[in-house]
Amino acid sequence: MAQTYSGVRESKPGRVNDYGGESIKTAEAFKKGCLKRADRSFAQGLQCQQINSMSALMSLEDAVFIAHSPQGCVGCTSLAVDMYRVGQAHRGVKHIKNPHIIVTNLDQKSVIFGGENKLRDSVNLAIERYNPKLIFVFASCASGIIGDDIDAICSDIQKEVEALIIPIHCEGFKSKICASGFDAAFISIQKYILKDTKLPKDENLVNLFAPVSISYADQVEMERMLGLLGIKTNYIPFYSNLEKIKQIPAAAASTSICKVFADEFMKTLEEKYDIPYSHTVMPIGIRNTDKWFRGIAKVMGKEKEAEEIIAREHERVQPLVDKIKARLQGKRVFICGGTGRSFAAAALIDDFGMKLVGLETPTYDDDAQVDIEYLNGIHGDYVVDIANMQPFEQVNLVKKLKPDVFIGVPEWAAKLGIPTTHVLDMKRPTMGYDGLIFLGNKIADQLSNPGFNVKLSKHVRLPYKDSWYDEDAFKYIVGGEENV
Ligand code: SF4
Repeated sequence: MAQTYSGVRESKPGRVNDYGGESIKTAEAFKKGCLKRADRSFAQGLQCQQINSMSALMSLEDAVFIAHSPQGCVGCTSLAVDMYRVGQAHRGVKHIKNPHIIVTNLDQKSVIFGGENKLRDSVNLAIERYNPKLIFVFASCASGIIGDDIDAICSDIQKEVEALIIPIHCEGFKSKICASGFDAAFISIQKYILKDTKLPKDENLVNLFAPVSISYADQVEMERMLGLLGIKTNYIPFYSNLEKIKQIPAAAASTSICKVFADEFMKTLEEKYDIPYSHTVMPIGIRNTDKWFRGIAKVMGKEKEAEEIIAREHERVQPLVDKIKARLQGKRVFICGGTGRSFAAAALIDDFGMKLVGLETPTYDDDAQVDIEYLNGIHGDYVVDIANMQPFEQVNLVKKLKPDVFIGVPEWAAKLGIPTTHVLDMKRPTMGYDGLIFLGNKIADQLSNPGFNVKLSKHVRLPYKDSWYDEDAFKYIVGGEENV
């Protein structure tokens, strides 16, 4: 019998979260099974899985999000709130709303006496204030440690209320791989909303899973491309609603925009609802866009049409790519991003003749191995940093490698005076054939106009001592070197 997936990504074999080394050696070690899970004896802070669970669902209509946690846990929801607000503006919403977030504010007393009453009060408050269709209750480290049984509390309250109350087990301590938070959210969607309900199939409908970080321009581009194949998309869970979620079992196939978003859930959909899926890459750059498009076309039996469309799109964008290439050829790049985006961006820069010198990505596994082997083939050797955040390591590496441009979360690299481009751009196009032109021009513009970052570097300093830059960037990774 198939084992039920716990939602903790580390529970699957061959996943490594802490490592640093050269890419060719890394790929060889992984192939031989010598790349074992290591640890950091010092870490600067990790992205927690709770924020991923919350951000994945935060744009659902008629929903309230209750974090059963201390106040600080919801600190980073501000990023997802910003994305939600901008996303509404791009979709032409006149009266822009904030998501309804409530935090139960677990404190010292709650840790001793339990937080059950606070959770009950919060659910009642959510109903009284917002009358929602959906109430999501997110666990935290604190609620997990004190043992508040959020499932039992939710099921008890559910007997008296109409709104669907959905507990989500995203206790931060359970996983160092923040994508586990996405899995926790989807496990609850299956358990509390879909509940194995089978629906008549719509042979043209595809579930397109998209996280909160996808721009509206990217949604339009993905829907345009699938539309060329005559496919209707059920775009979920970003900017959707309970009705669209309930339509998931009616789809003929599923695919995701991101490699680590809904990948486990799509397996569940295949097992329980006979929905085949395509899990390939993030469609950034020509190679990845082709691969992503071919993947879903194959599942839908539209391979011939896809090849014709790809040929037409190449003919359209190639002259524009060549123009950008003339501006970027030979430039050295350091990339830092989530698993899907960092690998996709590393493939994209090859379209423009750029060279990869360093790559930070949160997790290494079988999927990453496929990408790294491909990237090694085009870029040769470069430094790989497997890290959930840890900017101190990346600053050290960037100082040593001296790239011409940094692609990723730009804040600290900008303070070094290096031209930067944000690849996690939820506000502008980055994906599909149109997105790659926009992104290429953005990188080229940054390179030709680095004035802001240069000035910034003269007036702002990073918090590290000069001596740190002479140290081995991977000094605090315990066990990494012996494992290879
Ligand atoms: S759930 Fe845990 S790891 Fe996440 S923010 Fe709260 S305390 Fe930190």
